[in-house]
Amino acid sequence: MDIHEYQAKEILAKFGVTVPQGGLAYSPEQAAYRARELGGDRWIVKAQVHAGGRGKAGGVKLCNSEHEIQDATNEMFGQKLVTHQTGPEGKGIYRVYVEAAVEFDREIYLGFVLDRQSQRVMIVASSEGGMEIEEISAQRPDSIVRSTVEPAVGLQEFQAREISFALGIPSSLTQQMVRTLQGCYRAFRELDATMVEINPLVVTSDSRILALDAKMAFDGNALFRHPHVAELRDKSQEDPREARAADRGLAYIGLTGNIGCIVNGAGLAMATMDTIKLAGGEPANFLDIGGGATPERVAKAFRLVMSDENVQAILVNIFAGINRCDWVAEGVVQALKANPVDVPVIVRLAGTNVEEGQKILAKSGLPIIRANSLMEAAERAVTAWQNDRKQNTKMRAV
Ligand code: GDP
Ligand code: MN
Repeated sequence: MDIHEYQAKEILAKFGVTVPQGGLAYSPEQAAYRARELGGDRWIVKAQVHAGGRGKAGGVKLCNSEHEIQDATNEMFGQKLVTHQTGPEGKGIYRVYVEAAVEFDREIYLGFVLDRQSQRVMIVASSEGGMEIEEISAQRPDSIVRSTVEPAVGLQEFQAREISFALGIPSSLTQQMVRTLQGCYRAFRELDATMVEINPLVVTSDSRILALDAKMAFDGNALFRHPHVAELRDKSQEDPREARAADRGLAYIGLTGNIGCIVNGAGLAMATMDTIKLAGGEPANFLDIGGGATPERVAKAFRLVMSDENVQAILVNIFAGINRCDWVAEGVVQALKANPVDVPVIVRLAGTNVEEGQKILAKSGLPIIRANSLMEAAERAVTAWQNDRKQNTKMRAV
C-alpha cells in the first residue's frame, strides 16, 4: 500500500528525520491560508498523488504570493496529474501540500528497499539526487552507494557514517546524516514498509539535512498490525478494480488483457494466467478466491471480474482438494443465474467429486463451456474470446 508524501513525512519525522514545515489543503483558499500560517514569502505547492515525477509534470510549483498559490492550486484541484509513473489515465489531485520553500546546495538520493538476493534491507544512495533512480543508474552508475543491513543488529552507526562519507557529506553534518539514515531504517523495520525513498534529501544553505520529498510503501499483509498506517489508505489513488476487491477480501490484481480469471489458490491462478498466454490470449486479471469457494464468494468474484469492461471471456479454474467440485459447480450456477453475464464462461473443475460437479454444470441449462484440463480450458477461452470479438466487429460493421 502506498501513502502520500505528507503522510510519509509525518511518519519519518516521528523517527527523527528532519522535514520542512508544511500544511495540507483540500481547496485553493485553504492552501493560501496554510501559507499564511507558515509565514515567509516563498512556498512550494505540491500535488498529493501516489506517484513520483510530479515536478516535471506540473505537480510541484514554487509560489511567491498567496495569489500565486490560489492560481496554482486552482489549476491543480480536480485535475488528473499524468506523470511517467501514473500511466496515461493519471491520478486525481484532491489534496495539496504547502511547504515553506527551502534553499539548498546539494540534492541526494536515498532509498531503502528489500533486496531479494541478500534477503535484507538495502540502502541505495547517490550524490546525484533530484533525478529518478532509474536515470541515475543509467547516467551516473558510479555515484550509487549500496549497503545492506544485518537484521540482527540493525543499521549500526559506523555503517551509517560510512554511507555519509561515501556521499561526500561534510563531516560537520555526519551526525545529522546518521540520524536520518537510522530513522528511515527504523521506520522501515518497525512499520513493515517495503520501500522508503527520499529524493531529494538536501543539504540546505543553512547546513541542515532535510527531506524535501518522501515516499513510503507498506506490506499489505502486515497492515493488520499497524492500524495507524492502514488508516492512511487513500482509495482515490488506487485502481478502482483493486480497491473493490480489497473491500471484498479477494486477492485481485488488475491486468490489461481480455480473459477474466476466477481461480482458487494463488499458485493455480499464476499457472492459469501463464496457460492463457501460452494459448495466445491475455489475462485481464489475477484473482485468487481462496480455498473455500462458496457460492457467495464465486458470485462476488464474477461481479468483480465483470466490472472490468475489457473482459470478453471468463475462465473459472477450480481445483477442489478440501473443497468439493459439486459445491463449486452449484456456486457457479447460482452466481450466473442471479447475475447473468454476456460473455462466454469456461469452467474447468478438477479434484473431489468432479463428476457430480460436471453434471450440475451440464444440467443447469446455462451456456457454460466445460473443459477437462487447464490447457483445454485456456484454448477454449481464447477461441471463445476470438469468436466473440469477430461477432462484435461484424455487428459493428452492420
Ligand atoms: P517529485 O517530482 O514527485 O519527485 O517531487 P519532489 O518533491 O521531489 O519535487 C521535485 C523537485 O522540486 C525537487 O527535486 C526539487 O528540486 C524541487 N523542490 C521541491 N521542494 C523544494 C523547495 O522547498 N525548494 C526548492 N528550491 N526546490 C524544491
Ligand atoms: Mn522526488
